[in-house]
Amino acid sequence: MVINLVLRVRANRTESLDWSGAASARRLLMPARETEAIILKTFPLGEADRLVSFLGRSSGRVRGVASGARRLKNRYGSTLEVLSHVQLWYVEKETRDLVRIQQAELLESFHKAQSDYGLSTGLAVISEVSELVLPEHEVSEPMFRLILMAVREIERTGDWALPLSYFAFWTVRLGGWLPRFDRCAACDSPFGVQPAFYGAQQSGLFCGKCRRPGMQVLHHEARVLAERFTTERLDRVALEPAMQGSAKELREASLAWIEFHIERRLPTRELLETA
Ligand SMILES: [Zn+2]
Repeated sequence: MVINLVLRVRANRTESLDWSGAASARRLLMPARETEAIILKTFPLGEADRLVSFLGRSSGRVRGVASGARRLKNRYGSTLEVLSHVQLWYVEKETRDLVRIQQAELLESFHKAQSDYGLSTGLAVISEVSELVLPEHEVSEPMFRLILMAVREIERTGDWALPLSYFAFWTVRLGGWLPRFDRCAACDSPFGVQPAFYGAQQSGLFCGKCRRPGMQVLHHEARVLAERFTTERLDRVALEPAMQGSAKELREASLAWIEFHIERRLPTRELLETA
């Protein structure tokens, strides 16, 4: 599906020539950039436009305006839906942070996940975390691949339990925020097969003796799952019923560490609902 906004952009260019001088003339000469991208978030802007935050494979996280995107909603289809995988053409402006999105082409549809409420709550967490941990204009190939793999698996399996756990764990790992999984952060004693504990106010894992009130448990099985995640691709790990609890524990711990390091709560975390 190709959505072409060139006509409208041309109209705008003519207008901008009328109201300003050299700056907009220079802008006219800026060539369009092209990147493979994942849509992170979109917001309505004015009556007809959409503000779009995307992670470009070659641009990093960028915000831009898709003119007329609301008016052309039917023609856009799922091109600008959350976590759509697209090819984008945009023009950078010298004077503003926002780029102008000229054209978007859907590379891969995640229609099932985007249109199912339960699955979309999982997508919302991925979108929110990505938006908050990725610095603007910084290319991140590992995060690009991680997001895409997680969303593909949610779409393919119709379940976010394992993909979200994998995504959250790897986001912590790529962020360099992963605590030691074998020893207590306070007393250095090995966990062995004993449960470990984490809290919202700490970045580490603690043993039963050093745990503090309000800390959550991360059992040995969840730490074993983390080990599998470090060595196996998500699409090679099958979710067995016995793994559900571990996947949840690892997801919750990882999201807690993300919140600790970005120093804010993730509202979408509270909205997670299974399909
Ligand atoms: Zn300890």
